[in-house]
Amino acid sequence: MPANDTDVIIAGAGPVGLMLAAELRLGGVRVVVLERSTDPTDQTRALGFTSRTIEVFDQRGLLPRFGGFGTIPIGHFGGLTLDYREVPGGSYGAAGVPQSLTSSILDEWGTELGADIRRGWTVTGFDADVDGVSVAVDSPDGPRRLRAAYLVGCDGGRSTVRKLAGIDFPGQDAVMELAFAEVDGIRVKPRPNGERVPGGLVLAFQQGADRFRVTYYERGVVPRPGTEPPSYPEVAAAWLRLTGEDISAGSPSWIGRFTDASRQAAEYRRGRVLLAGDAAHIHLPIGGQGMSTGLQDAVNLGWKLAAEIHGHAPDGLLDTYHSERHPVGARVIRNTLAQRILYVGGPEVAPIRDLVTELTAYADVRRHLINTVTGLTIRYDVGPGEHPLLGCRLPGLDLAAADGPTSTLRLLHRARGVVLVLDDGSGWAEAAAPWAERVDTVPARPADPDGAAAFAGAAALLVRPDGYVAWVGPPGTSPQHLADALLRWFGKPAVG
Ligand SMILES: Cc1cc2nc3c(=O)[nH]c(=O)nc-3n(C[C@H](O)[C@H](O)[C@H](O)COP(=O)(O)OP(=O)(O)OC[C@H]3O[C@@H](n4cnc5c(N)ncnc54)[C@H](O)[C@@H]3O)c2cc1C
Repeated sequence: MPANDTDVIIAGAGPVGLMLAAELRLGGVRVVVLERSTDPTDQTRALGFTSRTIEVFDQRGLLPRFGGFGTIPIGHFGGLTLDYREVPGGSYGAAGVPQSLTSSILDEWGTELGADIRRGWTVTGFDADVDGVSVAVDSPDGPRRLRAAYLVGCDGGRSTVRKLAGIDFPGQDAVMELAFAEVDGIRVKPRPNGERVPGGLVLAFQQGADRFRVTYYERGVVPRPGTEPPSYPEVAAAWLRLTGEDISAGSPSWIGRFTDASRQAAEYRRGRVLLAGDAAHIHLPIGGQGMSTGLQDAVNLGWKLAAEIHGHAPDGLLDTYHSERHPVGARVIRNTLAQRILYVGGPEVAPIRDLVTELTAYADVRRHLINTVTGLTIRYDVGPGEHPLLGCRLPGLDLAAADGPTSTLRLLHRARGVVLVLDDGSGWAEAAAPWAERVDTVPARPADPDGAAAFAGAAALLVRPDGYVAWVGPPGTSPQHLADALLRWFGKPAVG
C-alpha cells in the first residue's frame, strides 16, 4: 500500500472545513484542505452565528481575532419575538459578523497551526480501502492523487464527497424560494427579524448608512431549478410589490436566491469517509443555525478523528460523531421547518401562530424555543448520572486556580481533555496522571455564585476537548471512577 501523503484530507475550505483543519492540528495530526475556488470568497452568506458558537470560538481563544462584536439580545422563533437573554449565556447570536470574516479568521488560525490549505484543487473522486483513502484531484498542475487515512467532505450542500460515497441525502424538496440582494445607495425600513406582509415575508439588514441586505419571499413563487439569481430589476419590482419601497435606484453588489430544501445525510461516517457542515445537512437559513451547526460538527469530530489517527481512540469513539451530531442536525432541520410554517404560512396557519403566541406567555416555553435555536442545551448521551452538567456544554464560568484567575473556556484553548478538580479530595490527580499526555488536571474553585451553583454536587468533572462534560464525580466518588471515564473517552493511557 502506498504511503499516506497526510493523515486527513478535507474537501472544502468553507468555514467548516477550515475549523476542522485547525481542530485536527490542535490534535496533532497532519491535514491537507483541498478547495475548488482559487480565491477566498468575499461573499458572505451568514451574517452571524449562535451563542453556542460564540462560546466555541471563546474556548479556542479566537474571539480577540474578531476585533470585538456585539450580540443581538432580541431575536425570534418563526417570527415570534423573544428576548434571548432570558436563558443564561443566551443571545440571538453575534451581531453582523460576515461569514467572509469568520472564514478568513479560521483560515489564518488553521494556517498558523500548520494546516496545508490548497486553493484551486478540486476533489473529483476517491477510492477507499481498509487502510485509507486515495483521492483524485484536479490541481492547478493537472490531475493528481493524494492519499490519507481519512477523507472528510466539508464541500457544501451539493457535496461531491457525499455523492461519490453513495451516502443518501433524504429530506424534503423546496416548497419556497427566497431571493436576496446586497445593495448600496438605498434606505429602507430595517427588518432584521423579518416582517410578514400581505404578499409574503421581507427582511432588511442594515449594513451601512445606505447599505442593506434585502431578502424576500413572495407567496406563490415556485422554486426554480438551478442557482441563477434574479436580475436587480426583478428584485426591485418584487420589493416594491411587497413593501411599497422603491429600491430601483440602488447598486447591487451581490444577488442570490436560496430555498427551504431540507435534507440530511443518512450517515455522517462511512468507513474512512466522513461528512460535516452543509455536506451533512441543509435547511432554511433561519436563526443563524447553518454555519453554527457545521462549526460544532467540526469541533465534535476533530478530537475524535485525531485520537483515531494517533491509535489511542477507544472502540466506537469515532462512531459517536454520527450518534451525537446526527440528532442535533435533525433537530435543527425540524425547528427550521417549524419556523418556516410560523413565519411564512398564510392565513391557514394563523390559528397555529396564535396558539404558539399564547404559549410564549410561559417562561418554560420561551426558554425551550430559545434553547432550540441557540444550541446551548445540546445534551449528548455520555452514560449514566444525574448531574445537570452531564453530557452538556461546560458553560463559561470564572474560576480561581492555584496560578490565578482563569475560566472554564480558557481551560479548553488547547483542545485537550480537562479534569476539573473542585474539592480538596486527594486521588484525582493520581488517577488522571497516566493520561497526562492527553488530559490536563486543574484544581480550581468557582469564582462567583453562578459557578458555585453550576458545580454544586460535583467534586470533579471530566470535560472533553469539545467542551462537553463527559463525567461528573459527586463528593465521595472513588477516583477509580474517574480512571474508568478517562479510559472510556481517551483510550488506554500511554505506556512508559
Ligand atoms: C442567504 C444565506 C444566509 C445565511 N445566513 C446564515 C447565518 O446567519 N448564520 C449561519 O450560521 N448560517 C447561515 N447560512 C448558512 C451558511 O452559509 C452555511 O451553513 C455555511 O456556509 C456552511 O459552511 P460549509 O463550510 O459547510 O460549506 P460551504 O460554505 O458551502 O463551503 C464549502 C466549500 O467547499 C468547496 N467545494 C465544493 N466542492 C468541492 C470539491 N469537489 N473539491 C474541493 N472543494 C469543493 C466550495 O468551493 C466551498 O468553498 C446562510 C446561508 C444562506 C444561503
